[in-house]
Amino acid sequence: MSDEVTQQLWTGRFYNDGINSHDGLFDKLREECGVFGVFGHSEAANLSYYGLHALQHRGQESAGICVANGTDFNYHRGMGLVKEVFNNDNLGTLTGSNSIGHVRYSTAGESKLANAQPLIFKYRGGDLAIATNGNLHNAGDIKKELEAQGSIFQTTSDTEVVAHLIARSKHDDIALAVKEALLRVEGAYAFLFLTRDKMIAARDPHGLRPFVMGRLGNGYLFASETCAFDAVGGTYYRDVEPGELLVLDNKNGLVEDRFSPIRQRAICAMEYIYFARPDSDIDAINIHSARKRMGRQLALESFVDADVVTGVPDSSISAAIGYAEQTGIPYELGLIKNRYTGRTFIQPSQELREQGVKMKLSAVRSIVAGKRVVMIDDSIVRGTTSLRIVNLLREAGATEVHVRISSPPFKNPCFYGIDTPDRKELIAAQKSIEEIRRAINADSLHFLSKEGLLASIGRPNVELNRGHCTACFDNSYPTRVTEESSIGCGCD
Ligand code: SF4
Repeated sequence: MSDEVTQQLWTGRFYNDGINSHDGLFDKLREECGVFGVFGHSEAANLSYYGLHALQHRGQESAGICVANGTDFNYHRGMGLVKEVFNNDNLGTLTGSNSIGHVRYSTAGESKLANAQPLIFKYRGGDLAIATNGNLHNAGDIKKELEAQGSIFQTTSDTEVVAHLIARSKHDDIALAVKEALLRVEGAYAFLFLTRDKMIAARDPHGLRPFVMGRLGNGYLFASETCAFDAVGGTYYRDVEPGELLVLDNKNGLVEDRFSPIRQRAICAMEYIYFARPDSDIDAINIHSARKRMGRQLALESFVDADVVTGVPDSSISAAIGYAEQTGIPYELGLIKNRYTGRTFIQPSQELREQGVKMKLSAVRSIVAGKRVVMIDDSIVRGTTSLRIVNLLREAGATEVHVRISSPPFKNPCFYGIDTPDRKELIAAQKSIEEIRRAINADSLHFLSKEGLLASIGRPNVELNRGHCTACFDNSYPTRVTEESSIGCGCD
């Protein structure tokens, strides 16, 4: 291997290339970002560090924390994991009782510090920091309009569009300016805004991305997922409701307001299937339990006689346990994930890339050899990973591999903050189920029905505030989207 290639491997370039271009090894959908906020706690920066740690699965490219204490406004951002970006020294400079933090995963392959959040702006009201998870699909149109009126943009970020709208508002009150800005934008988002003395949390009117509020002593917490509250010893208080604007300052405490009427709720179904951590709850529904029910339902819809059930770690293990419980077929750890491969294992050649899969995932020969295996996975995006895992099991001696997917076929791109390939690259948009089965070398293949999925999640669709987004399965987008709508995350 040439020195140049070796160096590229160790610099992580191929790691990032691989993730961002949906390399076969990482043929998974990518959650884009996680946000965490603390208001009214003297350890705000340290709490943010631990909270972001718990949200690391939502973004691994960059991390940042901004802290305010009424007079000072300090921040630190960097490329890499939370534990790589922060240390005692830089955390020690972030003094103050209010903070917002962010972990980010990029969609465009740009490893740029300039895109790391929270983004910091100066406007006539002072300092403003913004952290967001989601995507604004009309940001491009608004940006063109603002540029025509003389605005100059520093980044390609949707978040900067919101900052410009706030800066141009007639309102001096930041809460009113934020409200006005949010009425202009469309999409899916959980926003945290921080000024020297205020914090504002806002969620899109459909509630597409998860966003929760917690308590810690007399302070308030905000997070993309409840697992971050557990990490800091906080407690879940309630969800930030769709269309809601929560304003916190020392004078008035918590002021609960709205910027939009509530619209048909459309929480992302993929959060339940794959994105969120199993120990998180979304709308009081535990993710692990919901995934187990998906596995049970999958068994009811597609029983197959077999010797062992195994799940693709980590996100499919809960569904595999459910499938095993329902069928009585023993659950076994037939696939083991190596957690210590680090950032270096995406290899430039096909041959080494195959080796990379084996470094990441191993089939346990003594468990699967001579056995008929049911392999549970949460989704198939391009199909390349499924093929490799099926082949791993066959090489380890499995006599049959029956693939069961705990979600419906993923056929349509997401416009709401999830990095998805073009429709033409989504295998379920291009092939029949039988063709996919052949492409991934499985003995049989079944996807969970949409009805089965919704029943498993257990949030009835009938009430105004209880619905889901299932657009990537059924092409039914809860907001107006066009071919020009940007795909991916507005964090870029
Ligand atoms: S399109 Fe799919 S991934 Fe995107 S928000 Fe809707 S359910 Fe989630």
